[in-house]
Amino acid sequence: MYISKKGFKDIIALKGSGSGDGEHPSSSKTKNVYPPIESFWLPPSAADTAVDASKGGGLGSKLLQPLRFRISSKRSNLKMAMEGRHDPKEEEAVDRFREMLFLDGKLPTKFNDYHTLLRFLRMRDFDTEAAKDMFLKFIKWREDFRTDTISKDFKFEEREEVKKCYPHGFHGVDKYGRPIYIERIGMVDLNKLLQVTTLERFVKYHVSEQEKTLSIRYPSCSIEAKKHIASTTSILDVGAVGMANFSKPARYLFTEIQKIDSNYYPETLNRLFIVNAGSGFKILWKALRAFLDARTLAKIHVLGNNFAHELREIINPSNLPTFLGGNCICSENGGCLFSDKGPWNNPEIQALLQVMSSSDETYDNEEESGLASEDALLDNRKIQALEEALAETKTKIEALETALEDTKVILKDLTQHIEDLRS
Ligand SMILES: [Zn+2]
Repeated sequence: MYISKKGFKDIIALKGSGSGDGEHPSSSKTKNVYPPIESFWLPPSAADTAVDASKGGGLGSKLLQPLRFRISSKRSNLKMAMEGRHDPKEEEAVDRFREMLFLDGKLPTKFNDYHTLLRFLRMRDFDTEAAKDMFLKFIKWREDFRTDTISKDFKFEEREEVKKCYPHGFHGVDKYGRPIYIERIGMVDLNKLLQVTTLERFVKYHVSEQEKTLSIRYPSCSIEAKKHIASTTSILDVGAVGMANFSKPARYLFTEIQKIDSNYYPETLNRLFIVNAGSGFKILWKALRAFLDARTLAKIHVLGNNFAHELREIINPSNLPTFLGGNCICSENGGCLFSDKGPWNNPEIQALLQVMSSSDETYDNEEESGLASEDALLDNRKIQALEEALAETKTKIEALETALEDTKVILKDLTQHIEDLRS
């Protein structure tokens, strides 16, 4: 068993919030708290490739290292930046974990990913047996819940209606480049919520959003920030939280979502800011924290009404709605929590992501068959299509510019003509 350096604890330790809720939970002493999963990122250098090619490592690293570093194209530089530099000790642990799962035949290609494996290891304090147990339950749950196909199979038509009685949503990125998630839990109207959806459908919706975050939001943020992004900065507005928030269905929803997030999406929370915490909430918080693990608790900042300054330290006002002290209103989308604004909506990033994911599939196939597959052709065709679309846009712009020039000439002639008539 490999236990990571205790020093990590200091890096993310709470600095204490303005409202005086910064005390550490007593149980946190028994667990390590790690820095954000992206922390080891440094600008990639030529040395990275050499290190990866020459490194020893076990069977895991030799056979199963994803082929990211062998891709020769411009995209490989971006991929390397997105992958980030790995901490050698963590990498060693991941290699061992990978080898263990592989030898047991329990490592689906889809999850043979450094950061996914690392998240499970960290959640179980680098106890590989415990991490394996957690990982296997995760695979089983994905099968039972049909998580792999949820984005295709599940349509949440009531999204807009749900957001009206349960205000929440992703909104922009923090200064580091992580997506921001906001929830105004005090404004939840559970009776209305249950009129427009069911608890079961809401949980499914939550899972589909988690999948979107992992497969689209994080990679898009990574492309934009040109570094590895794999966690969320969350803001929970608890203004007006009352007993209604603790009714039976509310408790069910909270527990169910909390269970799914901590068991199957571990280590994806960067920090959680609880804002507008009044005296009532602070009493409830004391009870609530008993349900949260030490690792999660260490990332939570409970703030009263004077939260704007702390939020602005890590988030630009343009990415904060006005109700959180920023200057964004997203009027064209009917409000910030309806907009889902962020790099994941940028068409260029979406196109790049599509090309990159199809090249991943290509390399996965090559790994299995040892041959270049038809997917490589498909990949090339997609790039070609993109280039053609770009060329077409250029042509259109040129045509517009020509038309503009023509108009100018005509106008000039016309002016001359008018002047001739006058004289
Ligand atoms: Zn906005």
